[in-house]
Amino acid sequence: MSIIIMQGDITKLKVDAIVNAANSSLLGGGGVDGAIHRAAGPKLKEECSTLGGAKPGEAKITHGYNLPATWVIHTVGPIYKDGKHDEATILWHCYENSLCIARSYGLVSIAFPSISTGAYGYPIEEASKVALRAIDNFLQKCAYYEMQVLCVTHSQKDFSIYIQSAKELGVKHEVQG
Ligand code: ADP
Repeated sequence: MSIIIMQGDITKLKVDAIVNAANSSLLGGGGVDGAIHRAAGPKLKEECSTLGGAKPGEAKITHGYNLPATWVIHTVGPIYKDGKHDEATILWHCYENSLCIARSYGLVSIAFPSISTGAYGYPIEEASKVALRAIDNFLQKCAYYEMQVLCVTHSQKDFSIYIQSAKELGVKHEVQG
């Protein structure tokens, strides 16, 4: 079991699944969602349109089509208001539900973007801590199950923040790149 923090473009990763920070329609949007749909090709949207959307905190899986990743797990992060509207709980559910789906499909490598910290406005200093704690909690609960979990940040600044958060929390991790 391991958490790997790395900087890069999640659409380029050859892992069992990448996670998409989707919106409730699951029909595509901007940011990482747009990048994933562009790289996967139009069949991804076709499959997403059969899923009936998703609520914040939920996760649903599709094929990866033209992506190097085999699967895409779509999860809807919370829109950040002031931190008093269950944002942390919803964000935790995004990570936990995505990992549960991955496990139920027998996947052993999964890459997450920094959910909700773009257009949805969640401060990354806080969001990264929720992400790392939720992933660490899952991996400890399922210690019998070998899973590699990558936290992929787009910018160098976000990469540094993730590393700092992991150190502050004492979460075991490796840094790649
Ligand atoms: P949200 O609506 O959940 O906030 P965004 O896509 O706006 O989702 O942003 C989520 C995070 O994804 C941001 O930190 C953004 O920098 C990052 N991101 C955008 N494109 C990519 C990419 N190709 N690979 C990895 N991360 C990305």
